[in-house]
Amino acid sequence: MAEFDSDDFMSDFQALIECESFSNDLSSLARSARLVSRIGTGMLGAAPQIIETDGHPHVLWRFGTGPRKVVLIGHHDTVWPTGTLADFPYSVKDGVVRGPGADDMKGGLLIAIYALAKVRAELGHLDGVSLLITADEELGSPGSRQIIEDEARGAKAALVFESGAAHGAVKIARKGVAIYQLEVTGLASHAGVEPEKGINATIEVASQVIEIAALHRPSVGTSVVPTVMTSGSTTNTVPAKAVVGIDSRAASADEQVRIDDALRALTPTVAGAKIELKGGINRAPLEEDMAMGLYARAQRLAGRLGHPPLRSVAVGGGSDGNFTAGVGTPTLDGLGTVGGGSHARTEHALQIWIPRRIELTAALVAELLGDA
Ligand SMILES: [Zn+2]
Repeated sequence: MAEFDSDDFMSDFQALIECESFSNDLSSLARSARLVSRIGTGMLGAAPQIIETDGHPHVLWRFGTGPRKVVLIGHHDTVWPTGTLADFPYSVKDGVVRGPGADDMKGGLLIAIYALAKVRAELGHLDGVSLLITADEELGSPGSRQIIEDEARGAKAALVFESGAAHGAVKIARKGVAIYQLEVTGLASHAGVEPEKGINATIEVASQVIEIAALHRPSVGTSVVPTVMTSGSTTNTVPAKAVVGIDSRAASADEQVRIDDALRALTPTVAGAKIELKGGINRAPLEEDMAMGLYARAQRLAGRLGHPPLRSVAVGGGSDGNFTAGVGTPTLDGLGTVGGGSHARTEHALQIWIPRRIELTAALVAELLGDA
């Protein structure tokens, strides 16, 4: 199949949306993995491996045995609980496709498959390409992270099929995410009878919270937010234990390290109190310089294909693109459908962008494979 065949694409798209695949419903994910495998095997002429982590079936095609050149990353799980389809069915009206996973990212994974089919028809092979469609992305990729990183490490490019932004903009930067818990240990005593014998965890955690919040640096996009906090047991006891959660986001790895170092360097202010930091950096940022080379290439190819000028955006939320960039692989994200409303009942994908995304992805992959 060399050209975009809208009828085939749309019937596969409908089948994928109607095959529910909630991240926490393993039997639905097994059905969805089988469907993704069947569609991909038909289009790409090879069966995938299914790699399970904690019961989540990730679908991986590896073409050729040599080093990985281009890695395409998608996911087939969704945030939609099984049964959502009953009152949020697949529909197409006036060029707008709706249904659970239409934009995040059943359309995107299908774009990746159709684009590779086009490359295969043109070049006669896909040697050096991997296509990985995971089953736990909406959970933060706890099991697939290792597979994603192993597949992407050393590749020339990672292409991620999360949805594009308004006007088809691709995503060239995503903030990194770090999650911590600071635990304070004091000593309980009777607050009325002998308060001087206690070590007050509430006072300790309160002074830490002020220090933590002061680490933020909004001018460079760094947030450090103390979140859930608990302390103490009863109103007449000097608190022995306190915990505060910390959510930190940063646009650069340097900033992530600055925050991480500063949190680890915190020292107690109340005599006798102990503090312990748990957690750490969860996703490294996808920094612009990891995307700019691929973005420039994609812009040029979009122009050559006669598409509207390709735009770009930086976003706050993380994706699997943070992991591929984190192992040093140039990464371009947002190559999936263009629409909106991810994780909401307004979720939709615009049909007009589907052939453009397939063409653009195919051109990118073919050019990357053709380079030395
Ligand atoms: Zn997604």
